Amino acid sequence: MPDPLFAPTENAAEPDLESQLSQARAIARKAGKTLTPVREYFYKRLLCEGPLGAYELLAGLDGVASAKPPTAYRTLEFLQELGLIRKLQSVSKYIATPLSAVSSPMAFVVCRQCGLTEKLECDPAQTSVFDRARKSGFDQLDATIEISGRCGRDDCPGDRLRTGRST
Ligand SMILES: [Zn+2]
Repeated sequence: MPDPLFAPTENAAEPDLESQLSQARAIARKAGKTLTPVREYFYKRLLCEGPLGAYELLAGLDGVASAKPPTAYRTLEFLQELGLIRKLQSVSKYIATPLSAVSSPMAFVVCRQCGLTEKLECDPAQTSVFDRARKSGFDQLDATIEISGRCGRDDCPGDRLRTGRST
């Protein structure tokens, strides 16, 4: 079984976090925008912690700034427009895009029951779907492919419900 992309590994994103942040700042600058402290905070948390929802991001904002849900959604939209994060529609959570893949298709499989998310390798066939979409005149594509299903792990709450096991 492949390692879940977002399994909590201690200090997983630590070594090059600063360089990822400065690259993200450069991407924003190039687009004529700025990573404000709130934007940077959201991006940093998504880099380090994997899929998080707007409210989870807001909940940790104490001390960085005071923000309300509309601010959170505007911030997430901003980061999405820059390609720095992607939204996983089926679980309404956001993830950081690896800076090498800001404008490339990315595919994920998401467990409907527990939200476990794994990144899948995209092959040329998937990439060509996006090329075709562009050729037919679409732009600003959300190049995120999302497949939902059940992870089948023993500790997935959905499986516990199904088999009547309790924790
Ligand atoms: Zn699951």
